[in-house]
Amino acid sequence: MRRKLAAGNWKMNGTSAELDRLATLAERHSAAGCDVLICPPATLLSRAAEALSDSQIALGGQDCHTASTGAHTGDTSAEMLKDAGASHVILGHSERRADHGESDALVRAKSEAAISAGLIAVICLGESLEEREAGQTLEVIGTQLQGSLPDSASGETVVIAYEPVWAIGTGKVPSTEQIGEVHDFIRARLEERFGAETGGSFRILYGGSVKPGNAAEIFAVSNVDGALVGGASLKPQDFGPIIDALAASAG
Ligand code: PEP
Repeated sequence: MRRKLAAGNWKMNGTSAELDRLATLAERHSAAGCDVLICPPATLLSRAAEALSDSQIALGGQDCHTASTGAHTGDTSAEMLKDAGASHVILGHSERRADHGESDALVRAKSEAAISAGLIAVICLGESLEEREAGQTLEVIGTQLQGSLPDSASGETVVIAYEPVWAIGTGKVPSTEQIGEVHDFIRARLEERFGAETGGSFRILYGGSVKPGNAAEIFAVSNVDGALVGGASLKPQDFGPIIDALAASAG
C-alpha cells in the first residue's frame, strides 16, 4: 500500500518569524493518517528541524547540487540538507527548470546525488499551457519521466509530482479527468520501466493550485497519492484541511 503524502513547498518564503506555523501544524496533525512534509527555504531547515523534533512531520529542501562538496558558491549539497534535518528534497520544480534552465539530465544527476546522500527525491514533471493545447501533454511527461528518473529509483527513494506548469500559483486546476489521465499514464510508464511491483510502489503527487475547496475531489482520482502544495502550504488554516482531506481519502 502506498502511504499518502501531503507535501508543502514554501518556495522563497519564510523567515524565523514564520517558524511558529510549524508548531501550529504539528499540534493540529500529530496523528494524521498520512505523511506530511514541509520544504521551507534552506535558511530555516535546521531551526525547523528543532521546532518539529517531537512531531511526525518531515522536512525537505527545495533543490540540491550534484556534488557533495566543492567550489560551487551559493549551492547546497544533498549531504548538507540531510545534516540540517531534511529527509527529502524537491528536484526539477518547474520554477527551477524555467529560472535556472534545469534539464532532465541535470534533474536525474541531482536525484542520484540526493539518493546517495540518503534523501528521498521529490521529482517534478509538468507540461506548459502551449504543450497541453498542442496535445503534447503525455509526450512531454513521458520524456521528462524517462530523463529525470535514475535507473536506481524506487518508491522508497523517489516520489513523483505531476505539476502542470499552467496550474502552479494560478488558481487554474485541470479537470479530474485530465489529472487521472496523466497519473494513470505515469503509473503505466513506471510499471513498464521498473516492473509491476517497483513501478507500483512510487507515490505520484498532484501539484498546482490545490486548496481546501478542491482537495477532496483531486484526492479521489485514481493514482493520486497526495499533493505538492505551494501557496496554501504557507497557511496552517489552509494546509491543515488539505491534510485532513488526504487522510480521509486514505480511509
Ligand atoms: C508548487 O509550487 O509546487 C505549487 C503547486 O504551487 P501552488 O500550490 O501555489 O500552485
